[in-house]
Amino acid sequence: MTQSANSRRFTVTFRGVRGTLASPGDPFRRTGGNTICAELRCDDRLIVFDAGTGIRQLGSELLDQSAIRKIDLMLTHVHYDHVEGLPFFGPLFSPDFDINIWLGTVDGADSTEDAVKGLMRRPYFPVSPDVFNATMRYNEVSEGQTLDLGDGIVVRTAPLNHPGGATAYRVDFDGRSFAFVTDTEHFVGKPDDNILSLIEGVDMFAYDASLTDVELPDFVGYGHSTWEEGMRLRSRANANRFMAIHHMPFRTDNDIDLIEAAIKAIHPASGVSREGDHYEL
Ligand SMILES: [Zn+2]
Ligand SMILES: [Zn+2]
Repeated sequence: MTQSANSRRFTVTFRGVRGTLASPGDPFRRTGGNTICAELRCDDRLIVFDAGTGIRQLGSELLDQSAIRKIDLMLTHVHYDHVEGLPFFGPLFSPDFDINIWLGTVDGADSTEDAVKGLMRRPYFPVSPDVFNATMRYNEVSEGQTLDLGDGIVVRTAPLNHPGGATAYRVDFDGRSFAFVTDTEHFVGKPDDNILSLIEGVDMFAYDASLTDVELPDFVGYGHSTWEEGMRLRSRANANRFMAIHHMPFRTDNDIDLIEAAIKAIHPASGVSREGDHYEL
């Protein structure tokens, strides 16, 4: 979308694009090995989607700046690949930050705080969230809820089809929009109406492209989708750019290049997300 000279800053940076498990090493270097995390800047407000291992470096950078003090961390769900970086997110340990954590309903946790406590407890972790020094607020997101975060930031949500539950988010700011849609499994031949309405006309959406249509039959019930379904949703919802995310740990840089070429052959403005990619919305 064309921006006027005085438009407000609205950018997304992908901090971790790997799903399921981190993938360090040479075959994965250009795509990046960190698990899911995306950074959305709305002027001096920061929204972080998911807290995979990619959130650790973001945290280090935030401790070295003074513009951002308020962070909204929106968790899609709490499977390991989406939260394993959370206890290593630097701002949680600084009294200078005001942090809201948001989470929809997930099986096995009574509340957002309960889910974070479950992640940081023995025998899995040495210390509890009591070690956080930031001003913490834990918030529940009810199904389909719309959140007004102030400063002109509106967040819409939608439930996803994923074992144990997951929530997709769409942020509208300054006449532009971004949606974060992972993890979810689609039914072949039947587009998900909840997702279609969430991403209607969106400027960019990141979508669970763990699999390909050819691979999907071997992974039914695991709760994941395909880049081809992402492209079908894009066209049905009149969305602009689709970005494939949640790349499987076995997917090498060369594999990702092939998927990117296939996507761009259909719609050149769409593509795959790689760690460190930065876009103006
Ligand atoms: Zn995942
Ligand atoms: Zn998951």
